[in-house]
Amino acid sequence: METWISLLIPGAIILFFVVHYLRGLKKKERNWEAAAEKGKLYSEGPKAQHPHIDSNLCIGCQTCTSVCPEGDVLGMVGGKAAIINGFKCIGHSLCADACPVGAIQMVMASAGMSAEMPALTGEYESNVQNLFIVGELGGLALIKNAVNQGRECIDAIAARVAAYPAPEDACDVLIVGAGPAGISASLRAIEKKLRYITIERDEVGGTVAKYPRQKLVMTSPVEFPMYGKFKKMELSKENLLEFWQKVMQRADFKVRSGERVDDIQKDPGDGIFTVTTSKSRYRAKAVVLALGRGGTPRKLGVPGEELPKVMYRLIEADHYVNKKILVVGGGDSAVEAALGLAHQIGNQVTLSYRQERFSRIKTRNEQHLQDATKAGKLTVLFNSNVVSIRPQSVTIDVNGHPRELANDYIWVFAGGTPPNDFLKKAGVQLGTRDLTTEASNEARHAALARKQASRPQIRTSLVGAEM
Ligand SMILES: Cc1cc2nc3c(=O)[nH]c(=O)nc-3n(C[C@H](O)[C@H](O)[C@H](O)COP(=O)(O)OP(=O)(O)OC[C@H]3O[C@@H](n4cnc5c(N)ncnc54)[C@H](O)[C@@H]3O)c2cc1C
Repeated sequence: METWISLLIPGAIILFFVVHYLRGLKKKERNWEAAAEKGKLYSEGPKAQHPHIDSNLCIGCQTCTSVCPEGDVLGMVGGKAAIINGFKCIGHSLCADACPVGAIQMVMASAGMSAEMPALTGEYESNVQNLFIVGELGGLALIKNAVNQGRECIDAIAARVAAYPAPEDACDVLIVGAGPAGISASLRAIEKKLRYITIERDEVGGTVAKYPRQKLVMTSPVEFPMYGKFKKMELSKENLLEFWQKVMQRADFKVRSGERVDDIQKDPGDGIFTVTTSKSRYRAKAVVLALGRGGTPRKLGVPGEELPKVMYRLIEADHYVNKKILVVGGGDSAVEAALGLAHQIGNQVTLSYRQERFSRIKTRNEQHLQDATKAGKLTVLFNSNVVSIRPQSVTIDVNGHPRELANDYIWVFAGGTPPNDFLKKAGVQLGTRDLTTEASNEARHAALARKQASRPQIRTSLVGAEM
């Protein structure tokens, strides 16, 4: 009898946990199915970098769903990982890193999707020899990718310079842009003792410097030149810029800011580039383009848009109080700007979007937006388009009916025009890249390298355990 009881109690405890686990799993599955339905409703699927899951390899362990910082990009459908809200993926690739069986690869675009992109080699070299393209301009977003590519392309350049040094009157490498890719490339050039010039049309930090104040930046551990392993996963924009500043100062990194590169031409004779900027002219053996894809902000093209009250970037929302504000756009940048402005004293904020619903914003932004509209801090006008702008007002077409709003400021978040003309002028061929395979291969190599690196360690620890 006693044996029965001693078996029954642990049995009941185990059963309790199993039932509890299975119930939790069922609930999660229901939520994933609902999210998948909603994902289908709101979007045609992923538009940029996103995970590709090999369902033959997937073991349904849910590691990927638990590590994704964006929430419900992935879910489990029929016991396997599946993309349920692909449009929300911003390419952190934590799912691919975490997958224990290498079933996830990051790909650039859905099959059949095309993009006008420069064709690049594995060393990020364009069709123009010694002209390299790194960071977001090459097609991959995210700070960690920009840092990795900036570092890696300089390694390739350093090897070439060692074999064939640049002439005295030319630098080894000229880097255009000082965002994360350009900073990383410049610091690596210092590390490799190359003669470098870095030119930035604006300020150091690139897109990161233009994030709204105190924006939380998600990143991944990355090898940062002149520093070593940078391990932070999330930090404020200010802290990230401060970190870069410290490393740049220590490395005595010199950047020519406030200078725009206008033209790059290669001498067919000696193969040296002549780089013409708004202030000067330089000669370089190699050029690294780290321009980002922001390019020039896309405009609305309506009368009155040239007024100084129309802006395309918001950094300090708290500089604007007691104002009548219109924000135009339907992405996270527009929504975050509208929310930031709506929380300042006395502001009346209207968010105008040309579609009938938001289809690609983060769940937390969607929630904050609902809260703000319920609290009367913000008005959203769907199916609306700005028609004309005047100093004190703006006319918007809402569902085919013109409406005039009193207005002090307008922010437009309609994306940017990538610098494709600039690239073409430099001789870079743009074309429809098979982005899916290309990124898959890159990810496959990285996954393989990770696995190979981790194998000996596992074996050693097992041997240790046996002994
Ligand atoms: C709102 C927002 C939030 C984001 N959040 C994150 C996040 O949390 N985590 C993350 O990893 N990524 C995030 N990203 C993406 C990330 O910021 C970019 O992928 C990254 O900045 C790309 O780096 P880059 O160096 O390639 O280009 P950029 O950062 O765009 O830098 C390009 C630089 O080149 C300069 N330049 C351009 N043309 C010229 C010229 N002709 N002459 C001289 N200089 C020139 C520009 O002024 C700029 O400084 C976010 C992006 C946005 C817009």
